[in-house]
Amino acid sequence: MALEKLAPETRNLIDGKLVPASNGNTFDNVNPATEEVLGSVADGTKDDMLAAVEAARRAFDESDWANDPAFRAKCIRQLYEGMLAEKEQLRAIVVAEAGACVTLTGFMHVDNPIEMMKYWADKAASYEYETRLSDIEFTGAMHGRLLRREPVGVAGLITPWNVPLYLNIAKVGPALASGCTAVLKPAPDTPWSATHLGRIAVERTDLPPGVLNIVASSDHLTGEILSTDPRVDLVSFTGSTATGRRIMECASPTLKKVFLELGGKSANILLDDADFAKIVPSGAMTCVHGGQGCAITTRMLLPRSRYEEGVVLLKTAFESWNYGDPTEPQNLQGPQVSRLQQQRVLEYIEKGKKEGARVVVGGGKPARPGWFVEPTLFADVDPKSTIAQEEIFGPVLVVIPYEDDDDAVRIANDSIYGLSGAVHSADLDRALAVARRVRTGTLSVNGHMWFHVDSPFGGYKQSGVGRENGEMGLEEYLETKVIAVPPQGN
Ligand code: NAD
Repeated sequence: MALEKLAPETRNLIDGKLVPASNGNTFDNVNPATEEVLGSVADGTKDDMLAAVEAARRAFDESDWANDPAFRAKCIRQLYEGMLAEKEQLRAIVVAEAGACVTLTGFMHVDNPIEMMKYWADKAASYEYETRLSDIEFTGAMHGRLLRREPVGVAGLITPWNVPLYLNIAKVGPALASGCTAVLKPAPDTPWSATHLGRIAVERTDLPPGVLNIVASSDHLTGEILSTDPRVDLVSFTGSTATGRRIMECASPTLKKVFLELGGKSANILLDDADFAKIVPSGAMTCVHGGQGCAITTRMLLPRSRYEEGVVLLKTAFESWNYGDPTEPQNLQGPQVSRLQQQRVLEYIEKGKKEGARVVVGGGKPARPGWFVEPTLFADVDPKSTIAQEEIFGPVLVVIPYEDDDDAVRIANDSIYGLSGAVHSADLDRALAVARRVRTGTLSVNGHMWFHVDSPFGGYKQSGVGRENGEMGLEEYLETKVIAVPPQGN
């Protein structure tokens, strides 16, 4: 879609109205593939955020939203249908502001996430909010118990820029389905994927004022209000582990429920009986979307006995990997989202070189406009080194040799992260035995896919707290109440 036809919404959504920032300020939205300014967006202030929190609080306390799942399902379905109607617009926005490759928009960025909203509409209606526990005897009398799940209250939703529309949907969907009211604070790099959702909500749904608020801001700290304000009951955050720690800290004085989806450094383990010719080249998929995916496998663990064979296969795969203009269908890697991110990735690459790892392919930036980084393959990487331990969030694969299956598991688990991973073997039982020992929230065996709207997704260790998606994902937004009642049959 041509730039002039993007027509994204540039206002925030507060208390049912699309509004400019209260001080009239805006900030630029820049295309990372060209470095051109796409347009601007309301630069939400702290006062705007406070107004959004107030609106969400009032909508939760004073409307029937929390108690009317059928109405919630209707509104979420309208949101789903609105996104379907504006799908091409949303696709153009995500490609332009996030540098997402158009070929990837079907699965991760646009079509699949929109379908997820339908799941949340159905879940709002079908979830059993009230069930009965078995009767109990206490001091000679029988007692019944109702187990009720009720919305937590006002949910602060904070999202990053890497898969912006998906991540906004992955939070707005279950938050609204549960009966919470919400304030969404998107990343400043990708504001339109959120503000446009706001316009769809206003123009195409019956969502009552205050139920969904969206405040874009160039100031990260505007989001901090969501973790400090006593009127907010829950913070649902996706982003870096460093910010996750800060949010937990800020939420502690009011003891908010905190739900965190954080970083990763996932290991792709090839056991020595794996079909290397078939599997190793897929290691180049580390570069997909510029490596800007929390669950991408960024460490490849190869058995020492077949190590050089693997590195040679990877070299060929990296050299023939297509990257560049995200609007070209052959490319699966576009730019990093910002100059800052490009700089960060390049600094990690320099650190890797200094710490003695071998650059097999890439290692710099191409001479072209846009915040691109070359697909970069490092071999002979010390598992304790910075590039093997820290999340780079760039198109960089580190290859590490191991001695035997136990050693592979030990290296995979030698990380502060525990988000995802993969194991490959000709022997399924052997692969599964390794998979069961890797301490991560998801894992792929022999290339099979775990990602789906009904699969709980989240991390062990410092990759997060809680699970997104699926029924467990809905339950993050629910409180639990037990009501003692007369026993059944009485
Ligand atoms: P980030 O932590 O810098 O920012 C994420 C969001 O938090 C942005 O909206 C930002 O404005 C906001 N923010 C920053 N400081 C804040 C504060 N003090 N209080 C409240 N909000 C604040 O992360 P990023 O660079 O935008 O995203 C990349 C990170 O996200 C990576 O680490 C990646 O692994 C992670 N991520 C995790 C998942 C997952 O599901 N586990 C998914 C996608 C991305």
